[in-house]
Amino acid sequence: MMKFHPEQINQVKGFLDPEEGKHLFDISLLAADLGPILEIGSYCGKSTVYIGQACKEKNSTLFSIDHHRGSEEQQPGEEYFDPELYDYKSFHMDTFPVFRKTLSLFDLEDTVVPIVAKSWVAAKSWATPLGMVFIDGGHSYEAASTDYNCWARHIVPGGYLLIHDIFPDPTKGGQAPYEVYKLALSSGEFFEQPMMKTLGVLRKQG
Ligand code: MG
Repeated sequence: MMKFHPEQINQVKGFLDPEEGKHLFDISLLAADLGPILEIGSYCGKSTVYIGQACKEKNSTLFSIDHHRGSEEQQPGEEYFDPELYDYKSFHMDTFPVFRKTLSLFDLEDTVVPIVAKSWVAAKSWATPLGMVFIDGGHSYEAASTDYNCWARHIVPGGYLLIHDIFPDPTKGGQAPYEVYKLALSSGEFFEQPMMKTLGVLRKQG
């Protein structure tokens, strides 16, 4: 059972639909039995609350990676720029202070391990098998495919690979996450599970 109220989670900035969030929570409950979970693209922590709550219930861990400098489309002058998240002292986007506030607000500081780095940097020395990887970082093909290539190998047999912002119809949204979804399928290592809106769910062969 999710222990937080939908209105509480709606206060956290982010791009995750509530039904996608609930689905993320449900899959995370299953995945947490297989190993710790890792997400790429923490932003202000909306998805972190859903996944983290499931990990907390299972006494597992969520590693949450983000360089916290905002992705391409969140930079000044771009479509998803949010001036509240801009650090006018360093002239950078900085979502980490808000992310930390979210962890504190939802009592997840003993469950979530923030990793403030680019995902490929964090991956260089990674050796821990993972029950689930959630890819929701940069939406260029280069960023999304790098995330896939760096992290999918660490998913345990029977574990889950979730990818956000899947738009099979190119008029509805960017194609990079969907391209990576298809890349994962074509590897033969993953099979499809029912999708929730734009949340793609793949499972590794057991
Ligand atoms: Mg997303």
